[in-house]
Amino acid sequence: MAEPVILDGKKLAGEIREDLKQRVAKLSRKPVLATILVGADPASATYVKMKGKACESIGMASRKIELPATTQTDALLRIIDELNQDPDVHGILLQHPVPENVDERAAFDRIAAEKDVDGVTTLGFGKISFGQDAYPSCTPAGMIRLMDEYEIPIEGKHAVVVGRSPILGKPMALLLLERNATVTVCHSRTKNLEGHLATADIVVAAVGKPNFIQGASLKEGVVVMDAGYNEGNVGDADYDSCFKKASHITPVPGGVGPMTIAMLLAHTVQAAEKAAS
Ligand code: NAP
Repeated sequence: MAEPVILDGKKLAGEIREDLKQRVAKLSRKPVLATILVGADPASATYVKMKGKACESIGMASRKIELPATTQTDALLRIIDELNQDPDVHGILLQHPVPENVDERAAFDRIAAEKDVDGVTTLGFGKISFGQDAYPSCTPAGMIRLMDEYEIPIEGKHAVVVGRSPILGKPMALLLLERNATVTVCHSRTKNLEGHLATADIVVAAVGKPNFIQGASLKEGVVVMDAGYNEGNVGDADYDSCFKKASHITPVPGGVGPMTIAMLLAHTVQAAEKAAS
């Protein structure tokens, strides 16, 4: 079989950022993304920093709000309310996960729909599931954008999404369904995962376990979208064995990861454009 096409998320994300830079330059007010970090989890702190830098790289601004791990839900909700009302803020990102003392769902749902650029609210999720206008969760949105760039057909295909988290597996399943795929969602209680994988035209790996999806489980010509990111730059799909079976495959790093940030920026620029119109 011919070698698969490697889906270059890094390159596409770069092109998207270039386009966004030009759109930002046309706005009279800089788009602003407010990021909220509760506690001092080092990985979360790194992600927030990366997102702030990405904003600056396209001429946007970010406003960092850092709160102690002891922050209570009420206090966080008040801060979100202030950001909702602040006309200078166009997008709000609450970094997941928050410490246990905070009700994360309540905090996510407090974010105003027009500023929910990370696609975390129940309302946004509901709208997406009905095909209505809302910002979808960034990682799934990035995967669909990447598939479109490479003109990978989705309609009528059997897509198997492994993982059902609210930020990744579930919204990805919805977006694929919107595009007329036949979708199977697998999770930790799924029986016969191998049987589902064997019939997949598209596999989305969103498990959080390094090298979990093995090429031996897949059919020839499958499209492998690996959202996983584990220590040591390892995805949730075993790249080498999946490479042998795939028609298209995302590398880790340089596949889905850069697309996530590009989508966050794109949604925030869109929110700023809407606010300006
Ligand atoms: P998560 O919340 O831990 O969810 C993992 C999902 O995998 C759950 O739905 C779980 O099922 C399922 N699962 C666990 N073991 C399984 C098994 N043996 N068989 C089938 N399903 C199983 O993880 P997440 O936040 O969605 O993240 C998933 C991966 O994506 C991670 O590697 C993460 O680092 C990566 N990620 C990347 C980006 C990016 O920007 N590229 C963004 C977010 C996440 P249950 O629901 O039954 O527990």
